[in-house]
Amino acid sequence: MGNSASFGGAGQKDSMKKSNKLEFAVKMTCNSCVEQIRSSLDGIQGIASVDIDLTTGSVVVDTILPSHEILRCIQTTGKDAILRGVGGKEHKNLGAAVAMLGGESGFSAVGVHGVVRLTQIDETSCIIDGTIDGLQPGKHGLHVHECGDISNGCESVGEHFNPHGVNHGSPENDQMHRHAGDLGNVEAGADGRAVFRIVDPILKVWDIIGRSIVVTDSEDDFGLTANEQSKIDGNSGQRLACGIIARSAGLFENSKKICACDGLTLWDEKNKPLAGNSRQSKIPQQEPTASRL
Ligand SMILES: [Zn+2]
Repeated sequence: MGNSASFGGAGQKDSMKKSNKLEFAVKMTCNSCVEQIRSSLDGIQGIASVDIDLTTGSVVVDTILPSHEILRCIQTTGKDAILRGVGGKEHKNLGAAVAMLGGESGFSAVGVHGVVRLTQIDETSCIIDGTIDGLQPGKHGLHVHECGDISNGCESVGEHFNPHGVNHGSPENDQMHRHAGDLGNVEAGADGRAVFRIVDPILKVWDIIGRSIVVTDSEDDFGLTANEQSKIDGNSGQRLACGIIARSAGLFENSKKICACDGLTLWDEKNKPLAGNSRQSKIPQQEPTASRL
């Protein structure tokens, strides 16, 4: 296991126990805030350490849990938090990327949409951490596709990323018996939300920048059904939502507080559209942004 902390979690594969560090920006004003955050994360299985810096508003959590679960714990204190960076144990940045998933309706709150973050914590561990909303309850295939062309929506991103020219398979298989892009299934709960954290030994962040991630309507059968399509995409069906994989900030690389382009603070931006007229219209007018930091 090398540099990984040890965790409980019976039945988990060793690779799944590899932790990584998540850096959150949290609005904290005093030491009691720090204590509240600390107690919200206290005793949760899957957290190895928590470092809180009141001055910088930074909370760094070493964990094997999906970032969304940590965020939810912090938010039980009533404080707002944003995931700011993801990295490996030694603060090494071997590569981090993010994909915003949207479907035919774009990145709006209707339809299937989500965020998937990819972090290379060592040569053989790519962490795929994500939250996808708007799904039917149950299992859905998740795959990296060969290109990032979304000119015709999710239909133009090509097939599964397959550098070795082999058949589709399970993420548990070795690299000659799966596509590099085969990440298996994610499972949505009754609320339509899938929260996941996958540790993949084959995918490398540096190979997939500019490609895309797709979530499908059906469960991936890992190539085990006796039909031809199973060897191509695991009968995983229609592409529901997709997003281009873009390079992102690793741990402690993102010190942004105000967006240089339009003056929105980190906190103003949180629930704003990424672009478009409605973003402009939501820029607060009442006072200079910087004074509210
Ligand atoms: Zn595949």
